[in-house]
This record gives sequence, structure tokens and C-alpha cells, in this order.
Amino acid sequence: MKIELTERLLREAKRYELRASCNHCMYHTAQGCLFGWPDRGQSVDVANLEQVADIDVEFCKEFELR
Ligand code: SF4
Repeated sequence: MKIELTERLLREAKRYELRASCNHCMYHTAQGCLFGWPDRGQSVDVANLEQVADIDVEFCKEFELR
């Protein structure tokens, strides 16, 4: 799921310490995603999104917080 990177999203991601990357997902293993999904930017922490504003940001619907 692609999300538009807005100022509001960046502000709220920091304020609420949102987690959305594979690193924080219970399905993430040392070998990669348990479902075999490719990394399309999910490894980027939400708090650092402004550093990757030039790429599409995609969120995985399978994400489950550890
Ligand atoms: S289920 Fe989604 S968020 Fe979780 S490790 Fe796989 S690709 Fe990443």
C-alpha cells in the first residue's frame, strides 16, 4: 500500500513514535520476510521518512508489531 508522504504524516509519525518497518514486524526473520515479500522500503523507519522523501513509501498490510 503506497502512502503519500505528507508533512502531517511525518509530524504524527514522530509524535506517536509510529512503527511500520520490517525491523519491527513479528514476521521479520534473519532470512527476510516469513511470507517472502520483497523489501520495497518497509525497512525504513517511519521516524526517518523525511530522509527518503525522494522514493515511494510502501507499507505492508501483513505488518504485526512485535
Ligand atoms: S510481513 Fe510485511 S512488514 Fe512484516 S516482514 Fe514481511 S514485508 Fe516486512
